[in-house]
Amino acid sequence: MQEPTVALVAHDHKKPALLEWAKANVTRLGQCRLVATGTTGGMLADNTGLSIHRFKSGPMGGDQQIGALIAENGLDALFFFWDPLNPAPHDPDVKALLRLCSVWNVPVACNRSTADMLITSPLFLSSDYQREVPDY
Ligand code: PGA
Repeated sequence: MQEPTVALVAHDHKKPALLEWAKANVTRLGQCRLVATGTTGGMLADNTGLSIHRFKSGPMGGDQQIGALIAENGLDALFFFWDPLNPAPHDPDVKALLRLCSVWNVPVACNRSTADMLITSPLFLSSDYQREVPDY
């Protein structure tokens, strides 16, 4: 795999956790093509110096834009710190995004420990690993 495309999304109460994690993993993230929902992407770019393509804010359709990227087989991993304790106005979009990760066999980390394990996996930046894409 050459320069995997990685999406970063965090709900508001989870943004500090994603920022802390991104700072701890800035070297590996810097080897990826990064995309993010609007507010998450702005926060990460401002505080880490990472170059990040920003889609719309999540509630304005950013989750769906990332979903469209998945449907084009253009996403290699998603780090999605969603908030299990607060309702989101765009909950259907959140569910749709997670569903597409399952449909397309895209690795997705929804909390810090999974994110730690995914980004440190020897398979993460490896050109040897070919993610199987289901053919329905
Ligand atoms: P945001 O969107 O990065 O624009 O806050 C995240 C989300 O709520 O999906």
